Amino acid sequence: QLRRAMLDLERSREKIVAQNEELTVLATRDPLTGCANRRAFFDVGGRLFGDRLRSNGDVCCIMADIDHFKKFNDVYGHAVGDQVIQVVARTLQRNTRTGDVLCRYGGEEFCILLPDADAEQAREIAERMRAAIESSAVEGVRSTRVDRITSSFGVASVDYGAMRLEELIEQADNALYQSKENGRNQVT
Ligand code: GH3
Ligand code: MG
Ligand code: MG
Repeated sequence: QLRRAMLDLERSREKIVAQNEELTVLATRDPLTGCANRRAFFDVGGRLFGDRLRSNGDVCCIMADIDHFKKFNDVYGHAVGDQVIQVVARTLQRNTRTGDVLCRYGGEEFCILLPDADAEQAREIAERMRAAIESSAVEGVRSTRVDRITSSFGVASVDYGAMRLEELIEQADNALYQSKENGRNQVT
């Protein structure tokens, strides 16, 4: 009886562990893209930023926003819009390294935190992401009517003086705004 009770206990413990893992995913991931949600991003990113600031390390932020995204929804429907968001997320993901934090920041906006990358490296990574989206993101969309997907990027480095993660994000967001102003499909 004791052995059976022990076995039952072990099984229910395994079940709880599995359920906790599932809950963690639900609480920290965006369901459409699998990217970190804002909560997880500020949780992990805030600690990461603080560590780098204290140790004088490098950390950069990339903000990315799909160009004229509204037209995908308006012209082809919301389901195609969702596919565009998913394929852009996958492309960004493929161009990140272990330790980077990729977040779905808003509807069609993504924020990436890159520990141990300086401004020039982060700019190169953003440029790679931009080029990859422009050249091949459409291939991942099932609707054949979508023929072009581009996105704009803004990059900021902790070297520019941000004292808080929110400040670094704001600087990247301002740079992104410049990319939009200057004609989109570019990195600032
Ligand atoms: P810009 O080049 O200046 O960025 O223009 P835009 O059209 O991309 O930007 P805007 O912010 O005007 O449009 C974003 C749209 O994204 C508005 C909103 O309805 C849509 N959206 C937000 N979340 C989702 C989502 O989860 N799925 C879909 N399909 N659309 C979404
Ligand atoms: Mg947009
Ligand atoms: Mg936007």
